[in-house]
Amino acid sequence: MPEQSLPIRIIGAGLAGPEAAWQCARRGLAVSLYEMRPQRTTPAHETDLFAELVCSNSLKSDSENSAPWLLKHEMRHAASLLMELATRTAVPAGHALAVDRLEFSRLVTETIAAEPLIRVIREEVTTLDHFPGVTILATGPLTSDALALEIQRLSGTDRLFFFDSISPIVEADSIDHSRVYMAARYDKGTADYINCPMMREEYDAFIAALAEAQRVDGHDWDRAKYFEGCLPIEEIARRGPDTLRFGPMKPVGLRNPHTGNIPYAVVQLRQENLRADSYNLVGFQNHLKFGEQARVLRMIPGLENAKFLRFGQIHRNTYINAPALLTPTLQMKQHPRILFAGQLSGVEGYVESIATGLLAGITAAALATGVQPIPAPRASAHGSLTNYICGADPASFQPANITFDLLEQLDESIKRKVRDKKLRHQMVCERAFAEFTAWSQQLSTLLPTR
Ligand SMILES: Cc1cc2nc3c(=O)[nH]c(=O)nc-3n(C[C@H](O)[C@H](O)[C@H](O)COP(=O)(O)OP(=O)(O)OC[C@H]3O[C@@H](n4cnc5c(N)ncnc54)[C@H](O)[C@@H]3O)c2cc1C
Repeated sequence: MPEQSLPIRIIGAGLAGPEAAWQCARRGLAVSLYEMRPQRTTPAHETDLFAELVCSNSLKSDSENSAPWLLKHEMRHAASLLMELATRTAVPAGHALAVDRLEFSRLVTETIAAEPLIRVIREEVTTLDHFPGVTILATGPLTSDALALEIQRLSGTDRLFFFDSISPIVEADSIDHSRVYMAARYDKGTADYINCPMMREEYDAFIAALAEAQRVDGHDWDRAKYFEGCLPIEEIARRGPDTLRFGPMKPVGLRNPHTGNIPYAVVQLRQENLRADSYNLVGFQNHLKFGEQARVLRMIPGLENAKFLRFGQIHRNTYINAPALLTPTLQMKQHPRILFAGQLSGVEGYVESIATGLLAGITAAALATGVQPIPAPRASAHGSLTNYICGADPASFQPANITFDLLEQLDESIKRKVRDKKLRHQMVCERAFAEFTAWSQQLSTLLPTR
């Protein structure tokens, strides 16, 4: 067992923190795990238990060769505590892994509390200064205000986000392509966007409908002020009838090839995934009730029969601009002994949070024992997550779930040969798992487990 030369503290005992602590302990390292509940709670948590699932009880698909399955499969191989306890507390949920949430959290809390190498401290952490060892920040989307300010101080004011604004997504096949056109503004670059043109009367009717539409009732985490950069469209419309036309619906440089004219206003749709089977409405985050969104957004030319795959939302979500701040081992570039894990690091979802907790725990164990951390291989699901959060464009970074789009694609020559999509997915998963197991093997010689 390597000798521990630096102390490790982990802040936050949600999904990522306990997994990180466990990964350190199984390598024989002592850890302090801080959790602010019950002294201070969040607007979403209801108990003082670790690993509380604040909304759904689903840990997503467990169908073989799906991306969420692959991530779980890799975690099981890496002896994830939370995966083991999720399996023990599973409830029937078809192809998904869903758990008895109370039993799951209770078992995680008990197991962590019973581990002699993990010291649990029920306290809010508000400062990151003067700690001589390795810190993992895993305080989640509802990080306490004092610590959020501290992270902002450390990372820069423009590198910590407080809200997630989600634009609606429509199915490509449901767009009326006879009413829309592809164009790039001022014909610069490739014509990647679908443009839905509006005449003056259409725009006026749309603004009027938007002003009258019913909003979602606010939750505690929604009450704070919006950032100017992600205002909901109904709020922009409220500021004046032309504000949207000079904002996300700006038509300049988007000549309609059907009429030869610049429309009065334009709604732009951006391709959502590599399959090009869905498009998001650019800048159309909003806080309207879902039924109201369907009614109002179907007034947009070309979207009269739109099928919505996701509606717009705005909710509290604290996360860092990971591409600007982190390395693939989840260390801060500027402060390599400070690591981020969980939703705060820019991933989305329970399973992804556990996975980054697992990786951060392994990196912390390496740093504490003077071993050079090794990033998870790109082809693996873990490596695909870190590749996304560290390699995305910092200017438009949005948290992500694990999906097939994030995984390393097969070579074109193989794709041409293998036409069966199921088989291709299987090949991607097999390659991912082989690389993950080779990486685990390499780690186990450097950082042996108990
Ligand atoms: C309202 C809501 C609904 C959600 N629904 C879903 C869903 O259905 N499915 C899904 O996959 N994901 C959902 N999420 C996302 C979900 O929060 C994450 O997937 C997951 O909980 C993130 O894990 P985490 O460990 O990063 O953070 P958390 O699980 O939130 O854990 C962070 C912990 O840090 C503690 N903490 C915060 N600040 C401090 C501090 N200063 N000092 C000490 N402790 C601190 C908190 O009390 C908390 O226990 C939801 C999020 C919210 C806010």
